[in-house]
Amino acid sequence: MKELQVIRLFGPYGSGKGTQAKLLSQNFDAPVFDTGSELRDNIKNNTAIGIKVKSVIDKGELVTNDIILDLIKNWLASQIKKGNKAIILDGTSRELEQAKLIDQYLSEELQIKNITNIHIKIPRDESILRQTQRRICNYCGEIFPYAYKKDQCNKCGKGVLEIRKENDPLVAEKRADIFEAETLPVLEYYQSKKALIEIDGLRSIEDVTNSIMNVFK
Ligand SMILES: [Zn+2]
Repeated sequence: MKELQVIRLFGPYGSGKGTQAKLLSQNFDAPVFDTGSELRDNIKNNTAIGIKVKSVIDKGELVTNDIILDLIKNWLASQIKKGNKAIILDGTSRELEQAKLIDQYLSEELQIKNITNIHIKIPRDESILRQTQRRICNYCGEIFPYAYKKDQCNKCGKGVLEIRKENDPLVAEKRADIFEAETLPVLEYYQSKKALIEIDGLRSIEDVTNSIMNVFK
């Protein structure tokens, strides 16, 4: 990888996108941009964007595409300065307008050509199942994904895992609805441009990671 490689991950709740972002980050020595944590960090550190975001959220409004784009711009500038060869974007292009703005910025202003869009694909039913079947340790409170099959907590070693009472099926359905309404059009858009790689997310974490790594061999 000579030029900067941008890896953009897509996937519904429960697809393991966050886990894969972390693993890819280790394998490629690449930093991850995660919209949610970046927003929280900016609010916590009282940056100019953070102050703006806080006033938007306090008014009960949604964070606009412009704000997200500013966040990404700031973050990218600092990563490029550090000389990173690859970066991972997680949760940055949830809807079409936002995706196009980011593409435009990457390709026109930064002249980045290597943008790889990866969709970790799982069916709607599976997304809902994985969200509603998460379990919690009755001793230390650690939350475990559906994929973790043991009943003993491997964090504290003392507790037993129980289904979380907070696993609200309505919230899971709502998230699936939003993914279908907003993010599917993004995926269809890249598909039509032959710029989308689909990875079967129903397999083990290791298999999914290997499939993604193979894309870059
Ligand atoms: Zn525990």
